[in-house]
Amino acid sequence: MSAPQTEQFGFQAEISQLLDLIINTFYSNKEIFLRELISNGSDALDKIRYASLTDPSVLDSEKELYIRITPDKENKLLTIRDTGVGMTKADLVNNLGTIAKSGTKGFMEALSSGADISMIGQFGVGFYSAYLVAERVQVISKHNDDEQYIWESAAGGTFTITLDTVNPSLGRGTEIRLYLKEDQLEYLEEKKIKDIVKKHSEFISYPIQLAVTKEVEKEVEDDEEEMKDDEEKPKIEEVDDEEDKAKKTKKIKEKTVENEELNKTKPIWTRNPQDITPEEYGAFYKSLTNDWEEHLSVKHFSVEGQLEFKAILFVPKRAPFDLFETKKKRNNIKLYVRRVFIMDDCEELIPEYLNFVKGIVDSEDLPLNISRETLQQNKILKVIRKNIVKKCLDMFTEISEDKDNFKKFYESFGKNIKLGIHEDSQNRSKLAEFLRFYSTKSMDEQTSLKDYITRMPEIQKTIYYLTGESLSSVKESPFLEVLKKKGFEVLLLVDPIDEYAITQLKEFDGKKLVCVSKEGLELEETEDEKKSREEEEKQFNDLCSAVKEALGDKVEKVVISNRIADSPCVLVTGQFGWSANMERIMKAQALRDSSMSSYMASKKTLELNPKNPVIKELKKKVAEDRADKSVRDLTFLLFETALLTSGFTLDDPTSFAKRIHRMIALGLDVDEDEEAEPVASAVEDDAPPPLEGASTSAMEEID
Ligand code: ADP
Ligand code: MG
Repeated sequence: MSAPQTEQFGFQAEISQLLDLIINTFYSNKEIFLRELISNGSDALDKIRYASLTDPSVLDSEKELYIRITPDKENKLLTIRDTGVGMTKADLVNNLGTIAKSGTKGFMEALSSGADISMIGQFGVGFYSAYLVAERVQVISKHNDDEQYIWESAAGGTFTITLDTVNPSLGRGTEIRLYLKEDQLEYLEEKKIKDIVKKHSEFISYPIQLAVTKEVEKEVEDDEEEMKDDEEKPKIEEVDDEEDKAKKTKKIKEKTVENEELNKTKPIWTRNPQDITPEEYGAFYKSLTNDWEEHLSVKHFSVEGQLEFKAILFVPKRAPFDLFETKKKRNNIKLYVRRVFIMDDCEELIPEYLNFVKGIVDSEDLPLNISRETLQQNKILKVIRKNIVKKCLDMFTEISEDKDNFKKFYESFGKNIKLGIHEDSQNRSKLAEFLRFYSTKSMDEQTSLKDYITRMPEIQKTIYYLTGESLSSVKESPFLEVLKKKGFEVLLLVDPIDEYAITQLKEFDGKKLVCVSKEGLELEETEDEKKSREEEEKQFNDLCSAVKEALGDKVEKVVISNRIADSPCVLVTGQFGWSANMERIMKAQALRDSSMSSYMASKKTLELNPKNPVIKELKKKVAEDRADKSVRDLTFLLFETALLTSGFTLDDPTSFAKRIHRMIALGLDVDEDEEAEPVASAVEDDAPPPLEGASTSAMEEID
């Protein structure tokens, strides 16, 4: 027979690096390789079973669905075979070496920051864990659409693919052959294999067989005459003695191989929750998700009546590394129909914001041959989904009963909750119970809205909040001055998603949520406060109009403020436009639609503090001479500093700096002309910057 054609391929660079890491890192918990290979076999079986629902003939190539582990001590070879979908030649080339997944790099980064090799499965590169124990690996695979091929590699940067002409007898499926390293021969021991399967793969829903070799003593008639003496001596036959017969016999040891099934437990979700231990749930969760840690919380329930299904839902302890990588399809809730696995990424089962919840659903009512297309309009599925969401919320409530656990939960999945508030109008108010924010009265620990309400003074009618970039940038904000004095607590929202969520939420427990940096803040005023404010409004009317005149269309209007106590002024934005924080977020989004910004961009109102000495002094100056050049300059300085303290960015920092420098010069008694001389300035010193020019150039910088 002519030598089969062997083609050589190079591993993609990152995969090559990963293999080096796996081979060279000292790591003792190598047994997880078996879990990974069994999990791949189970995935492959899922695929063929799913295909068979619409076309039963795909199973003709091999009817039985199983995973079989065969240890071979003589050859130091461990084989894991499945009768799953198999791989074509192209699959072998692509899936096992030439196309890197995002997880390849992700896993290496995680490793270098202290992650554990056993986490490999979560990153979608579990197959390569075979090299923890094997020096050489063969993957022999037969797909219905192709011939049987052999993939082989001893790492070192390359692998080969060969058409299997020697023994193409798989029928369908994949056989992984691990030529074990000298120091890893323990994985050939039956006991060891049984333990590992029990520990990591108990809940695989296909039979996992171990090919157990038994030596049985067998008696055969001895035809040969030249046997040893003692065996040959004739004996008197006894009735109950079957071993020695009058006839010449001999005992021989014969090896037989039996397939012993290692995972006989029935599906855990069909069992009574009362009989299931926390450890069993933990083991089931791990096998379902490839997670290396147990879950944070579990909900096992069944729904009966018009529609019947059983489900187990889990909340993991932490978010996966790519929770918000939207392109990746993820395995969230596995869908079964009457114990038959249907699919593991059924988007219709759970809304996107709950994409961190894992579990299984087993429906009694759905048809077995349901297709992705019909799933979308399926009414049964809609009801199941509604139930799942409700149970998830119940589960979160249970988690929230333990403060520490909830803290962990919120750190990992708080963003999802906020996303849910934005997206799920039906459950919005329930979800709002899970929100936690820092506040002016709770700087060390985040507070719930419910707790906030218990601290509200009686006269306070609404819930106040301020949004910003970071705690340190908002905690001393001028917007908080009067509210603090009045004893009104203000929530500090510093996660970019907060503002999206809170503007959708609008109210909690019948109380409006009010942004303290926006127009129309109706602080609960006493009669006296109201009177004196109205008085001040009259007194400062002239100043307000002078300032508005100086600033032109940089501001919408100039008014007297009721929300600042110390600062001279702040800039507030329109109730329905963007806040300063939102403007910052939108500017940072490079691909934003710039037409949007023109009408959403904040219309700013400058609020002056009538009690501030600077403002009082400015009022006097205006009364003396409205056209005074310094009034204009000071007004601009006040405006620009207000931009900064109110959370905006400066459109034209240079002219702001110029004005400050002029103030410094004044303070140091430097002659203005003398100071200006060395610098040839193109900008006319006195004129405030033209609005249009300045803002467009700033836009360009950002885009
Ligand atoms: P993951 O299982 O997360 O996709 P792996 O590194 O474990 O990552 O496997 C890579 C890919 O190789 C799988 O997605 C699958 O396409 C293919 N594969 C691995 N083992 C098998 C198998 N036993 N049968 C069929 N395909 C397999
Ligand atoms: Mg895998």
